[in-house]
Amino acid sequence: MSALPSMPGKSQAAEAYDAVVVGAGFAGMYMLHRLRGIGLSVRVYEQGSGVGGTWYWNRYPGARCDVESMQYSYSFSDELQQEWDWSERYAPQPEILRYANHVADRFGLRSDIQFNVRVEQAVFDESANIWSVATSDGRTVSAKFVVLATGCLSNARVPDIKGLDQFQGQVYHTGHWPHERIDFKGLRVGVIGTGSSGIQAVPVIAEQAKHLIVFQRTPNYSIPARNETLTEQERQEFRQNYPEIRRFAREEAKNGIYTDLPDRGALDDGDNERRARYEARWARGGLTFMSVYNNLGLDKAANDTAADFVREKIAEIVKDPQTAKLLQPTTYPIGTKRICIDTDYFETFNRPNVTLVDLKSDPIEEILSNAVRAGAKDYEVDALVLATGFDAMTGSVAKIDISGRHSERLNRKWAEGPKTYLGLMSAGFPNLFIITGPGSPSVLSNMIVSIEQHVDWIADCIAYMRDRGFEAMEANKDAEDKWVAHVNEVAYTTLYPQANSWYMGANIPGKPRIFMPYIGGVGPYRQICNDIAAKGYEGFAMTAAARSPKMAASS
Ligand SMILES: Cc1cc2nc3c(=O)[nH]c(=O)nc-3n(C[C@H](O)[C@H](O)[C@H](O)COP(=O)(O)OP(=O)(O)OC[C@H]3O[C@@H](n4cnc5c(N)ncnc54)[C@H](O)[C@@H]3O)c2cc1C
Repeated sequence: MSALPSMPGKSQAAEAYDAVVVGAGFAGMYMLHRLRGIGLSVRVYEQGSGVGGTWYWNRYPGARCDVESMQYSYSFSDELQQEWDWSERYAPQPEILRYANHVADRFGLRSDIQFNVRVEQAVFDESANIWSVATSDGRTVSAKFVVLATGCLSNARVPDIKGLDQFQGQVYHTGHWPHERIDFKGLRVGVIGTGSSGIQAVPVIAEQAKHLIVFQRTPNYSIPARNETLTEQERQEFRQNYPEIRRFAREEAKNGIYTDLPDRGALDDGDNERRARYEARWARGGLTFMSVYNNLGLDKAANDTAADFVREKIAEIVKDPQTAKLLQPTTYPIGTKRICIDTDYFETFNRPNVTLVDLKSDPIEEILSNAVRAGAKDYEVDALVLATGFDAMTGSVAKIDISGRHSERLNRKWAEGPKTYLGLMSAGFPNLFIITGPGSPSVLSNMIVSIEQHVDWIADCIAYMRDRGFEAMEANKDAEDKWVAHVNEVAYTTLYPQANSWYMGANIPGKPRIFMPYIGGVGPYRQICNDIAAKGYEGFAMTAAARSPKMAASS
């Protein structure tokens, strides 16, 4: 039963919902739960055959989270966080997928999710304030609201390499891994790409393969994960302190992770003191390496001290000096590409069955039926693993043909880079929300913290509209322009834009170079979103009836 007033056009579609949610990862699942909670009828479409999103697709060997599991988990239900037992500091992919399935069952979500169906098109009907949503099974449904929970890292990028389709062996993409177990035993394997997924997969594949060739274009900074089994006592400590841990992650931490906040810059310490601090963080392991000091992302000289430390560590670990040199990143500041967390990545290059090929000096020329040709040399392989990442943040949205007011296409509007207000809505596309969209902290954070914040904000906003009889809501162009400028301005006060990263769209040929996520921090960002809501959704226009616009507030 719909919680929303009936509207013209709604009864005309065969199926009509208050809201359509696209995607059943952590974002889509929680969105469904919240919208149901306020009484809306909801349909979720998921192109995969199960829930979990990232953890459904990325089944490659070694896949695991890089934010600690006790924190990389939902906080919206205390019962859920008290009852779930994480086995390791960083849970492996199968366990995170089990958790997603547990959540789907525990909250009875499956009945409103349609699997194996892609959303292909969404068209806004201005006369009725209704979206028509067309799906890959040939159906069209109508909905007052559409929520894109399509994921920031869900559109796997297959590189355009000459001859790839001629390769006779198996080709796997880490972001689209088969469901059955792949055994590389006895095979010569090539891994192309050394980002986060490559760095996780390489040590595990090296243990199985007869020979592993790692094709590296850009070396990455990676910190040891120091993964270990969690004891019951450690779990209990977290559970008892969850109220404070979750509060801190939401309100105080820049990246949504509970950790001690640095009180000084890297150059405030002398060499010995600084080295001791880096050593302690290296020994502790994990993503919080970058929060040893408060200016590593801001000041190049400070950043150099951390980058030098990691380069020294690589040189200590990797026995062959030439290989060590190739593995040392030098062309961008540490942390300005998502820092990687590994288990024995650099150590793997000491194995006799592992070879590193530097694509910077010897780019791949083509792929033959049984080999990768780079620098005029043929590297024979039986299987290829593409660890080549994603068309990040906008890739999955761009695959849907979305047309808003005056038939404007979202893809056309975003041709020079994504434009949103708060990363939540784009002007000209009423009642269309994006979870962790470009212009929000998203990939710069513990994403479950950012997902929960967006979902709660959207659900509260829809309840607000319903309670006051508003039919449509839309970002004001002015407010959007100011937000886009602010996102850009904040980014350029940091070192981040200095790297050719996927944050900048630099991994996709032809994609505009715009720093997409909001780097102002999850705490300040949450406060901005809350303040805007408290002012009656300042910067958004709300429409009471089809043709009598009422401005809720202007920017
Ligand atoms: C290997 C890997 C490790 C990661 N580790 C971490 C980590 O440790 N910490 C962290 O904070 N983040 C991590 N991330 C980021 C991760 O993506 C998020 O944490 C989170 O899982 C995103 O959830 P989501 O629901 O927003 O998106 P996703 O999990 O990507 O789910 C989106 C879903 O939408 C579906 N979809 C997309 N388009 C359509 C369409 N048109 N029609 C139907 N369905 C569609 C997709 O099939 C997908 O299932 C990692 C990402 C990867 C790839």
